[in-house]
Amino acid sequence: IRKQVVNPDEIIQGLLAGNKTQLSKAITLIESSAQKHESKVKQIIAACLPHANQSIRIGITGVPGVGKSTFIESFGNFLINQGKKVAVLAVDPSSSVSGGSILGDKTRMEELVKSEQAFIRPTASGDSLGGVARKTRESIILCEAAGFDVILIETVGVGQSETAVHSMTDFFLLLKLAGAGDELQGIKRGIIEMADAILINKADGNNEKAAKHAKAEFKRALHLYPEKQSQWTPKVKLCSALNNVGVEDVWKMLSSYFEKTKSNGFFEENRKLQNKYWLLQSINEQLKNRFYNHPKIKEELKIQLEKIHLQETTPFEAADYLLGLKR
Ligand code: GDP
Repeated sequence: IRKQVVNPDEIIQGLLAGNKTQLSKAITLIESSAQKHESKVKQIIAACLPHANQSIRIGITGVPGVGKSTFIESFGNFLINQGKKVAVLAVDPSSSVSGGSILGDKTRMEELVKSEQAFIRPTASGDSLGGVARKTRESIILCEAAGFDVILIETVGVGQSETAVHSMTDFFLLLKLAGAGDELQGIKRGIIEMADAILINKADGNNEKAAKHAKAEFKRALHLYPEKQSQWTPKVKLCSALNNVGVEDVWKMLSSYFEKTKSNGFFEENRKLQNKYWLLQSINEQLKNRFYNHPKIKEELKIQLEKIHLQETTPFEAADYLLGLKR
């Protein structure tokens, strides 16, 4: 895309007609941090916004190996058989550190990858969590405008990535494994609190008994949490993504969740709150970028760091100085 001339009108037209190549191009533009693309990105997003929102957005999280890719393959194909169009996006800030994504393992999404009704996009890389999250959020809008009506957003439990995904989705699904003996320990309390459902995967073969046990334990634990604003009681379900068992049940659960939250107003309200949150996030992100990318700041920051090293100034004094510089 770099050497080609980017024609935003062509991209918009193709994207709105459901063309996946143009959708892909648009997301690549979003992911490029090149300044020269900024106005084109804005133009594309503005054109897409009126066509967005007609979807359900589902966050999926769990440790590596829990079966996220396998579940998405199974669930995605199920949804397509229901006549849906499915987009899979990922938030994975760790890829900027490790250089490779640990999410969206396409080899486990063999069928889904081939489907005309599916769009799978591995995570943006080389960025901060804030940057990756913003790009994913913008990509959601483009996917929706391209007619994808179920958006699956995958993340792995790295730092704050769950919080970011939670704040851009309507339903938050936590995948767990049974039998590790740590059903209630070693899990971050905050994540359980965010979950609308806990899905115990690999509930098959020798694992089945342990999975049932874990289910009971999670159910008991969930009782200890205060009622959700959505008035939805989080569910605990068993699943074998590998054998496509329990997948239909997940869809039934989601349907009743959306029925409930659309009728009690939470669905709309939550999206509005999320928009406000993202406005503030996006201001923070842009302010930071503008500050740190300014040539004068780059230069002066080095000098101030050196001065701190030599104990010629304090961190607070240096911060005040840098923030007060005329840019
Ligand atoms: P991810 O890292 O969370 O995306 O996990 P993967 O989907 O890559 O799965 C990790 C491993 O677990 C793979 O070898 C899968 O075949 C296996 N796996 C996934 N789901 C199941 C399941 O329901 N039952 C069993 N027995 N194995 C599974």
